[in-house]
Amino acid sequence: MNCNLTEIQQAAQNTFAEFVNKRVMPQAAAIDEKAEFPMELFREVGGLGFFGMRYPEEAGGSNMDIVSYSLAVMELARGSLSLAAACTMQSLMATYFLYRLGDDEVRTHFSAALKGEEIGGICMTEPNAGSDLMGLQSKAQVLHDGFILNGQKTWVTSAPVANFFTVLAKTDKAGGLSIFFVPTHLEGVNIGKSIGKLGVRGSVTSEVSFDNVRLPQNYLLGELGDGSKYLREVLAEIRIMTAALSVGVATAAFEYALQYAKEREQFGRPIGKFQAVNMNLAEMDVQLETARQYTLYAASMSDAGPAQQKTAMIAKLYASECANAICDKASRVMASYGFAMEYPLQRYLRDARFTLIGGGTSEILKINIGKELGL
Ligand SMILES: Cc1cc2nc3c(=O)[nH]c(=O)nc-3n(C[C@H](O)[C@H](O)[C@H](O)COP(=O)(O)OP(=O)(O)OC[C@H]3O[C@@H](n4cnc5c(N)ncnc54)[C@H](O)[C@@H]3O)c2cc1C
Repeated sequence: MNCNLTEIQQAAQNTFAEFVNKRVMPQAAAIDEKAEFPMELFREVGGLGFFGMRYPEEAGGSNMDIVSYSLAVMELARGSLSLAAACTMQSLMATYFLYRLGDDEVRTHFSAALKGEEIGGICMTEPNAGSDLMGLQSKAQVLHDGFILNGQKTWVTSAPVANFFTVLAKTDKAGGLSIFFVPTHLEGVNIGKSIGKLGVRGSVTSEVSFDNVRLPQNYLLGELGDGSKYLREVLAEIRIMTAALSVGVATAAFEYALQYAKEREQFGRPIGKFQAVNMNLAEMDVQLETARQYTLYAASMSDAGPAQQKTAMIAKLYASECANAICDKASRVMASYGFAMEYPLQRYLRDARFTLIGGGTSEILKINIGKELGL
């Protein structure tokens, strides 16, 4: 249930809801089991215009607002968090800096990515730098006509299938972080071992290393040392998007458990008639509705004016914690059937863990909300 949606927002939700019911739901278990990038569905999502929703029409996008985008993300995540994670990476972090800061050559890759013809990834995290991005050690040496990049990255979503990366590194000329465009075919770009994961297994992830990679001058995106400033431009939206992912997977878990409680009979009646089960479902409904409405509120606030960092952090923190609580409660309602690999609840439970990490851990968000309170 969503209040006050415009016709365009409602249409965006309907398009992706229909697609998910028809195309994603039947394949979601297999995507998880195979732990392979869902290329066919990824391209179909591209065909629906998802990757360009947040970009202007003159850049090949459809100029949709964050509310519409969030509704589409919720639907994709309701079907498969693996697919949704891969698609949201392509539609935001992997492409934003190319669009915002790239020259004509770099923008050709952006255009191809909007159509799903090329796949992008973002390389921020390193073995010794996760939450603390300023601690990263990748280094670009500044030459008179370009750069030489060296470094080790990890947890790079879509890396095994990527055509290009956006890479955060330090340089020997400026303090702070700088952002580089790095096509994966360049000599010295090595895609390392895939990371086996608990959840979002179809959103493939691996290590990446850069070994004396020679980059031309135009592959520096924006100004040297201004990377943190550019990152902040999309931070609120990344967090709202992660909140929407959380709402999507929580919706799937809630709907599945609710249906089960209506059908499963014990002691001569449906288990949903027992107050203990009933209360669990009511609590899940309260959490899900408040997470959904707050996420849409955060989206509408960012649509209305400058990005609202605190509102976006609250949405992400609340929705991801709720998603995990809801999956846990759903698993209790289903008891042994929530534990069986044959049923989807175990997948929702595993996948939801990802939402606690992406877009900033709960601890980091609480610290930053505290800072906004002047603490
Ligand atoms: C499925 C998946 C996909 C990912 N995809 C990408 C990607 O495409 N590109 C990319 O660059 N990265 C990606 N990441 C990495 C992700 O961004 C990092 O995992 C995240 O930033 C946290 O870093 P870390 O895992 O190293 O944890 P750490 O930063 O080492 O944190 C460990 C624990 O310490 C806590 N902690 C850390 N600092 C503080 C503090 N100051 N105060 C209190 N507590 C603290 C954290 O909250 C956490 O509980 C992905 C991760 C996952 C799981």
